[in-house]
Amino acid sequence: MTVDGGRDYDVVIVGAGPAGLCAGLYAARARLKTIVLEKGVPGGQIVNTHLVEDYPGFLSVEGGELARLMQEHAEHFGAEVVMAEVSAVRSEGPNGVVKVVETTDTTYRAKAVILTAGGSPIKLGVPGEERLNARGVSYCAVCDGPFFGGRVLVVVGGGDAAVEEATYLTKYASRVILVHRRDQLRAQKILQDRFFANPKAEVRWNSVVEEIVGERSVSGVRIRNVVSGETSHLDVGGVFVFIGFRPNGDILADTGVTMDHGGHVITNALMETGVAGIYAAGDVRAQLARQVTTAVGDATTAAIAAEKYIESLGAH
Ligand code: NAP
Repeated sequence: MTVDGGRDYDVVIVGAGPAGLCAGLYAARARLKTIVLEKGVPGGQIVNTHLVEDYPGFLSVEGGELARLMQEHAEHFGAEVVMAEVSAVRSEGPNGVVKVVETTDTTYRAKAVILTAGGSPIKLGVPGEERLNARGVSYCAVCDGPFFGGRVLVVVGGGDAAVEEATYLTKYASRVILVHRRDQLRAQKILQDRFFANPKAEVRWNSVVEEIVGERSVSGVRIRNVVSGETSHLDVGGVFVFIGFRPNGDILADTGVTMDHGGHVITNALMETGVAGIYAAGDVRAQLARQVTTAVGDATTAAIAAEKYIESLGAH
């Protein structure tokens, strides 16, 4: 038997990226009363990804389209997907068996909580970045790339996101200069090959952006070569920053779950956090790959583990 009452759920899922929507699908399909809470647009990071081409079954699919299909799939089985920003999660009642999820205007009660809240982009923290945010400084190539037709762009970072998005930006820009702090990229080889094959691609190795300059919008960057110590100025119309992201695990701070030094929630192979009834899956969790495929795999495990946990409470 599932719980009743408007704001009482079997499972509350926090975050509607691929992990959250997949957990929603599995939990709802298991006939658990399930709600997925999302503060922004359902789909998570894939909404800001032009093409996803490493999700099995889809040779190439637009990120927004994959997100839409995932949401439709979860809702088809009865999961509610609701826009709400979660501020805190806590355990109440005997042995902390009731999970309370606070949002700006509603308090939800649940038997299990699955945190799939992803993360947000890490900022460079250099002068000009904050002031020129959305005036040439961007963290989303798909969102902002079309505004930079014919311009010279800098992309900062050396991981998959930086190299993939730099390649994407060559669609619009006249040149894309990748600025990376070391002399080799950590991005997958296939992404590197694609970038370097593009005639608009350039790299500044061993270099960091020290300042983003411009009056009303970005007009250039000051970069420093960390080996030679030399600084130089690049005239550019935009700066795209892809230097990783910070997981959104803070809302679990009061529950007693363990996090690593980067703020990722630590789980076991069942996606259990160590606090009974609280699970984590996807990018918010400490793990190797941070892919859509791993996110949905983890979320599947989390939803099934939550189902078994709820059964063990004897009330399902
Ligand atoms: P990431 O793999 O952590 O790479 C971050 C990059 O930024 C690194 O090259 C790092 O340099 C650099 N960096 C970090 N802090 C910096 C700073 N303060 N100043 C300058 N550079 C800095 O992050 P990501 O590229 O966002 O990827 C995140 C996850 O998503 C990864 O697991 C990735 O595989 C996945 N992803 C996958 C795909 C795909 O498969 N198509 C696409 C996008 C993302 P160092 O190398 O020197 O540390």
